[in-house]
Amino acid sequence: MVNIAQWLIPALQQIQTLKSQSRLSHALLITGADGVGQESLAREVVKDLMCESQQGKACGLCHSCQLMKADSHPDFRVLEGETGTIKVDQIRLLVKQISQKPQVGKNKVVLITHAQAMNINAANAVLKALEEPADHTFFVLTSSQSSQLLPTIRSRCLLVKVPTPTTRDVAEWLQQDASLQPLSQLFWLTTQPYRLLALEQQGKTALYTELPEKLYAMLTEVSGVSDMVKGIDSKNIDDYCNGLAAILHQCICRSTGSDLAPALEPIYQVLIHRLSIQTLMQRYQALQMLKSDLQKTNLNPIMQLTHELNQW
Ligand SMILES: [Zn+2]
Repeated sequence: MVNIAQWLIPALQQIQTLKSQSRLSHALLITGADGVGQESLAREVVKDLMCESQQGKACGLCHSCQLMKADSHPDFRVLEGETGTIKVDQIRLLVKQISQKPQVGKNKVVLITHAQAMNINAANAVLKALEEPADHTFFVLTSSQSSQLLPTIRSRCLLVKVPTPTTRDVAEWLQQDASLQPLSQLFWLTTQPYRLLALEQQGKTALYTELPEKLYAMLTEVSGVSDMVKGIDSKNIDDYCNGLAAILHQCICRSTGSDLAPALEPIYQVLIHRLSIQTLMQRYQALQMLKSDLQKTNLNPIMQLTHELNQW
């Protein structure tokens, strides 16, 4: 696993300084664009807050630090909003759990990631907890859509903004870990560092890395459409649609003068020779539609994508 990303360090150090001076707000809201690492920063902050020492950075040695390492600290609670709505019962339970005295160290911490996933009742319950803060209790919230949070929640938090890293920052970060280096070939898909990391964790790096090559072989008739769609099923069809749409999007941008990833240049040359920009845009829209249709219905993914690719 890679070290904390370079672009997260200034914000982390600022929080550590405030902690060491006992001036840290009991509520933090960590914001930034999607996939820049709010959750990664929040996890570091939580470790520092749980440490029993006065210093800003977690000592790594005290009982609390040991329990955090083992992922079994009784005074730390987390709610992940990535997978669905956060409901009021979950918040109430959490507030109840942390209303007791800390069992181990001196602080208790609640982490709520993707806080925009809280429904209105849940948000009000959090607001109430922030308005009547219990001693030595910290709330750490993360969000990529903080404008969707209650303004009253935002105003009670110390706002910490994670900057969006440059492509070069992301490339350097990936360089630190040999297993992540292939991800730098996927900048045509995304330059969001933690989205790339998620692809690797989901075992999807190869699928996306091979896609331009397979598409080029199909377009130049080295292989057929049937080779292109081999291995597609209802589980990975979304990834194929996303990848192909990203390739088309990059080619459309290239036609208006933007830079193109070297891996896509041969594809662009074939497509632009064969289809107009308008057709590329139509195919892009058709792919988006196909993706949404496949989510709603039981259409056969291979048949549908074959039909689409026959028009390229
Ligand atoms: Zn410690």
